[in-house]
Amino acid sequence: MADTTVLDRGEARPTLPLVDPFARAITYLRVSVTDRCDLRCVYCMAEDMHFLPKRDLLTLEELDRLCSVFIRRGVRKLRITGGEPLVRRDIMRLFGSLSRHLDSGALEELTLTTNGTQLARHARDLAACGIRRINVSLDTLSPATFRTLTRWGDLDKVLAGIDAAQEAGLAVKINAVALKGVNEDEIPALMEWAHGRGMDLTLIEVMPLGEIEPARVDQFLPLSLVKARLTERYTLDELDYRTGGPARYVRVRETGGRLGFITPMTHNFCESCNRVRLTCTGTLYMCLGQEDAADLRTPLRASMSDGPVEEAIERAIARKPRGHDFVIDRRRRQPAVGRHMSVTGG
Ligand code: SAM
Repeated sequence: MADTTVLDRGEARPTLPLVDPFARAITYLRVSVTDRCDLRCVYCMAEDMHFLPKRDLLTLEELDRLCSVFIRRGVRKLRITGGEPLVRRDIMRLFGSLSRHLDSGALEELTLTTNGTQLARHARDLAACGIRRINVSLDTLSPATFRTLTRWGDLDKVLAGIDAAQEAGLAVKINAVALKGVNEDEIPALMEWAHGRGMDLTLIEVMPLGEIEPARVDQFLPLSLVKARLTERYTLDELDYRTGGPARYVRVRETGGRLGFITPMTHNFCESCNRVRLTCTGTLYMCLGQEDAADLRTPLRASMSDGPVEEAIERAIARKPRGHDFVIDRRRRQPAVGRHMSVTGG
C-alpha cells in the first residue's frame, strides 16, 4: 500500500514520488518568481519586453503552497529564479517560509540564481534562511562589455553583491554564457578570477529561446571549441562531481578550481533530466526546450485542498518529453520555443 501523510489541509493522500514515462524521478523544481529583470541581456531578452501584469502573478503564499506540494511529492532541490528573483517585492518572505522544509529535512537544498545586482542587500538574509550556495550569472569582467551585454547594467553592483555573498558565507558559483566575439577571449581571465576567489565557474551554451534582435547563430559558441582552446593553456582533469544539474566538471590543475560545462547544443543531457520548471503564473513546463505546459494556477485556486493541483502535476509529469531538440543554424530563423529564458526561468 502507498505511504500516506495527513496534511494540514485535512486529507490523507499518497506521497508517491513523481516519476516520468522514461523512469526519471522528478526531484528538482526551478521556480521563476517574476518575469521581470533589472537587466536586459541581449541573448536573453528583447529590448522592449512586455512583462506580465502583476495581477497574473501567483502570490508568494500561492508559490509557497505549490512548492510545498512538490516537496511532499519528492522534490529535494528547489531553485528560485526569474526574471531576476531579487526584484520581486518581499521575496525574502518566500525564502523565509520555504526554509521550514530545510529545517524539517524534507528539502535538501534551497537556492537561487541571480544576476547579483541586489545581492548586497539580501546576502545575509539569504544565508539566514538556510541558503548555502548560490549561482550568480556574470558573463564578463569588463565594465564596458557588461554594459553593452546587459544594455545598461553596472558591473560594480554585481561585484559588490558577490563580495557580500561571500562575506555572508554563501558559496558562489559563477555562470557565464559563452558568446562568440563577445566574451570568448575573456574566458581564461574570468576563470582565473573566479577560481582565485574560491568560486566555481560554469560555462553555458546559448540556447534558441525567444525572439531577440541579434541572430542566434552569431552568438553561438560551442563549448567543445572553448574546451579545446583551454586545453592548450591548462590541464583539465575530468571530475565525477555533480550538483544535481546538467553541468559536467573538470578540475583545472593550474588554478585548483572547478570548471563546469553546460552543453545543451553540442551534447544533449536530457537522459538524466530530473527537473521541471514553474513560472510565476503557475504554468509548469516539463522541458525547457518544448512548448507543452500545464496550468497549475486554476486547480490551485479552485480548491483549498491540494488534491486537484496534485492530480494536475501527476498528469503533467506523465507527459514529460524525452528531451529538447535545439538547433541553431543559418536556415532556422525561428527560436526553438517562443518564450524567453526569463519566462521559464534559467
Ligand atoms: N536573473 C537571474 C540571472 O541572471 O541569473 C535568473 C534568470 S536568468 C534567465 C538565468 C540564466 O539564464 C542566466 O545565467 C542567463 O545568462 C541565462 N540565459 C538567459 N538566456 C539564455 C539563453 N538564450 N541561452 C542560454 N542561457 C541563457
